Amino acid sequence: MQTQGLTQLASTLLLSLSLATATAADDQFKDIEIQTTGVGNGIYMLTGKGGNIGVSTGTDGVFLIDDQFAPLSEKIKAAIAALSDQPVRFLLNTHWHPDHTGGNEDMGKTGTVIVAHNNVRKRLAVDNFIEMFGLEAPATDITGLPVITFDSSLTFHLNGGEIIVSHVSNAHTDGDSIVWFRNANIIHTGDIYFAGMYPFIDTNSGGSLEGTINALEQVLAMSDDKTVIIPGHGPVSNKSSLLAYTDMLKTISSTLRKMIAGQSTLEQIQAAEPTRDFDGNYGDGFIKNTAFVDMLYQDMVQD
Ligand SMILES: [Zn+2]
Repeated sequence: MQTQGLTQLASTLLLSLSLATATAADDQFKDIEIQTTGVGNGIYMLTGKGGNIGVSTGTDGVFLIDDQFAPLSEKIKAAIAALSDQPVRFLLNTHWHPDHTGGNEDMGKTGTVIVAHNNVRKRLAVDNFIEMFGLEAPATDITGLPVITFDSSLTFHLNGGEIIVSHVSNAHTDGDSIVWFRNANIIHTGDIYFAGMYPFIDTNSGGSLEGTINALEQVLAMSDDKTVIIPGHGPVSNKSSLLAYTDMLKTISSTLRKMIAGQSTLEQIQAAEPTRDFDGNYGDGFIKNTAFVDMLYQDMVQD
């Protein structure tokens, strides 16, 4: 049943996710540099290895979105210090994955208030095993757990504007948040959006394709032509690219659904190359086309 694509996906993710905890893998971060991209209104995207970080700076202090991996914490703190002399007052986790929360203990220890959806704390508090990848993700120490959790949404009044954090249900995981800097017209989507590449949807953590599409539509409804979109992975984006991405997910999933309804096997679906028209724009990410189809197929036949 398992295709080569799925195996490749599994090993790629196993490698990238397990980096968070393996001390021997610290070397992998030695040469990683944190790059800073300004997106306006004192807000920045930081990239290194792992999920894109969002930073809001201003007179009230630093508001941080996600923190990549623990071995990068000092470099991330240095990049933030170059933008603001204020402490990191709040850290918002968009979801529990180790490439977005690996620095939590380092941030929590220094007094940063960590905030996330209820399910993020639940998942971080225990050892996790993601069956699909054979991945073990050990529990986060109490110093790195969110101290404020919420169910549907909450608003920060900081740095001269509103930061509206909204939970989107069963999307990339069961604990995703999207972060809307309303006055600045900037949105950090977390991993419901992998800009320019096929996404990973963590169905083992309560994620689903349908929820992802719903979440993307929610972001589209909050956006206009001037909105700056910081994706979970990939470069800074905008509404038209997000719309094309949403259409890609809808088109490929509807093709798959029809073929599954017509009793096609996974092998027949793969042979029909349902992603062919999109591979040029999305096929070069860390999830290749066959692995992506495999993942969607498993999600659909589970329903
Ligand atoms: Zn993720």
